[in-house]
Amino acid sequence: MATMEELRKKYEVVIGLEVHAQLKTKSKIFCEDGTEFGLEPNSQSSPISLGMPGVLPILNKAVVDMGILTGLALNCEIPEFCKFDRKQYFYADLPKGYQISQFDKPIAINGSIKIDGKTIGITRAHLEEDAGKLVHAGADGIAGSSYSLVDLNRAGTPLLEIVSEPDIRSSDEAKAYVEELRNIVKYIGVCDGNLEEGSMRCDVNISVRPWGQKEFGTRAEIKNVNSFRALQRAVEFEIDRQIEIVEEGGQVVQETRLWNEAEGITKSMRSKEEAHDYRYFPEPDLMPLQISKEWIERVKSTMPELPEQKRQRYIDKGLSEYDARVIVEQMETALFFDQVIDKVSNIKTALNYLMGDITAYLKENKININETKLTPERLVGLIDLIEKGTISNNIGKKIITIMLETGDHAKDIVEKQGLSVISDDSAIREIAQKIVDANPEQVEAYKGGRDKLFGFFVGQVMKETKGRANPQVINDILKELLS
Ligand code: ADP
Ligand code: MG
Repeated sequence: MATMEELRKKYEVVIGLEVHAQLKTKSKIFCEDGTEFGLEPNSQSSPISLGMPGVLPILNKAVVDMGILTGLALNCEIPEFCKFDRKQYFYADLPKGYQISQFDKPIAINGSIKIDGKTIGITRAHLEEDAGKLVHAGADGIAGSSYSLVDLNRAGTPLLEIVSEPDIRSSDEAKAYVEELRNIVKYIGVCDGNLEEGSMRCDVNISVRPWGQKEFGTRAEIKNVNSFRALQRAVEFEIDRQIEIVEEGGQVVQETRLWNEAEGITKSMRSKEEAHDYRYFPEPDLMPLQISKEWIERVKSTMPELPEQKRQRYIDKGLSEYDARVIVEQMETALFFDQVIDKVSNIKTALNYLMGDITAYLKENKININETKLTPERLVGLIDLIEKGTISNNIGKKIITIMLETGDHAKDIVEKQGLSVISDDSAIREIAQKIVDANPEQVEAYKGGRDKLFGFFVGQVMKETKGRANPQVINDILKELLS
């Protein structure tokens, strides 16, 4: 029997993603309720959020601006007209019985983004309101309770649903696509891009087809994928599941499946027959939106540098493609880097500090760079001391933590603790001589052929000079003294 690995070679994987990005407006899409996360349940639920009869939605202009900005960032066209539609379905978190969304006239169409040089088409991006949240029995700590609670704070939070073309061909590409989408919405400031907290959510459509077949295979849609790891695992699982079905002569059914993180499998949620008929019709309480060229231009003028442009700029400044990619993934750090890039004598040293010791410190403390006391100007000060040779790189690595915690200037720390490089060779020679004299056995062994002992002597001198001596000078002096 053929192994899964062999079977996989026979099939091409086809993936299209639907990503919901929660837009970072202060108030909801159709009323003045706030959107802040974690407030007391139902404290942000005016009659409009509750869907009371007779209330009227008022469109939040900031939502439209963000929709346009995102559309432009995704290289989309912004049609002159778009409109809102009612999508009807019944669920306890949707009291008015319909969601206001956009159906046939979305705010943005025909875009694309690049991932690793490959272009992924964006079919459309449309605005809609989020539903509320159900807190199920047990989850609220009321053990054994048999009911669910409804929190409508989230109802009416603005979302932008971004639908890709079925251009994605592997779990790696799916991950790269969502990563880049997340970078884009974060950098343009419309969404915080947090998959784990649900401010970005993705539904994955997957099918397989034998290589060479023109038509797509039947797809399954997977929901509940809320981390990059889950995204990749769910895709990998689903590819195998579908190939097995086809290999056994069966047919993949078009259905919605749920990713089960604990079991590592997808499970059927509802089949096509049970699929909702949403009976879309134009929302009668909202006028169609006319978006003028001037409006689009006004929004365009607020567009910041996009991740792709930023990476290219770094590469042009001499960073490797890898380094450029890694730093752009950490937005706050990249924006910090932008403030030092033209002021430091050596950008690679700055990058090494940011990506090395500083990143390690941020990860350990689960914070971003803006939550430390280090400022761009002070990092420049540190790099200058290293580049001028006032302190060694080792000392720099020691004091960067102090700088992150206290906000002190590198210069002051170096002065206070006496950390500047010992530039006087005779002082180093004196220390080296002392160490050679104090270790006659090691000297003899070294001279007798145990070359490795050289490191011992270097280490001793380093220790004695507290890392303040130039390693090359130590080496030269020791070679001479031990010859
Ligand atoms: P729906 O609105 O019913 O979810 P769409 O046609 O809008 O259906 O497609 C949703 C997503 O599914 C899109 O991202 C699209 O690229 C993707 N898709 C469509 N057909 C396939 C297929 N055969 N295999 C994989 N993905 C597909
Ligand atoms: Mg869908």
